[in-house]
Amino acid sequence: MFISYGTRASLLRTEPLAGACPACRAASGNLLADIYGRFFRVWFLPMWPTSRLVLVECQACQRVFQETELPAAGPLLAPVQALKAAARRPWWMWLGTAGLVVMSVVAFVQGQRRPGVVAERLAAPLVGDVYVLHDQTQTPPYTLLKVNHVLPDTLELLVNKYGTFRESKVGKLDENGKYDPQPVRRARADVQALARSGLLIDVNRP
Ligand SMILES: [Zn+2]
Repeated sequence: MFISYGTRASLLRTEPLAGACPACRAASGNLLADIYGRFFRVWFLPMWPTSRLVLVECQACQRVFQETELPAAGPLLAPVQALKAAARRPWWMWLGTAGLVVMSVVAFVQGQRRPGVVAERLAAPLVGDVYVLHDQTQTPPYTLLKVNHVLPDTLELLVNKYGTFRESKVGKLDENGKYDPQPVRRARADVQALARSGLLIDVNRP
């Protein structure tokens, strides 16, 4: 997969800067300091802030100076560095990282909750167990199977005739009239394989 990443700079603030222009010597009052915040981005998402950058522009002669171009012993460098250090970076520069943290926590919590219970209940199925299926190639992607009969190596299952777009709504499909009355038989090993492949995501036991 192609991943586009790099840094971008965003203007944080513009402040008037006292002192004469190093180029045209125009009197104080003509200099502006633009403070930029750089951030690392992946695709269009800002991940975290990196360095700050200051450009000093003279409104009299239009010259623009980088920090490194300001005379080291001159009167401009110290105030420019102070402005740079004080400029706060906005929260959105962390947006991508915050999103990743939230996604990791959700994945971790779901990972803790499910596989143990799912594997346990598939190993010892009971009549009335409801299997939640999530198949992203289907529209809508969520539906249910219900255990109708448990045989030594085989399960007799009722297939739900309906689907839903949200996992949180899947419980509403669990009504007698919503299952196809004609059961299907599947090897228990095949049903367990569905869980390992991620198609069977949960087992609800009444
Ligand atoms: Zn100037």
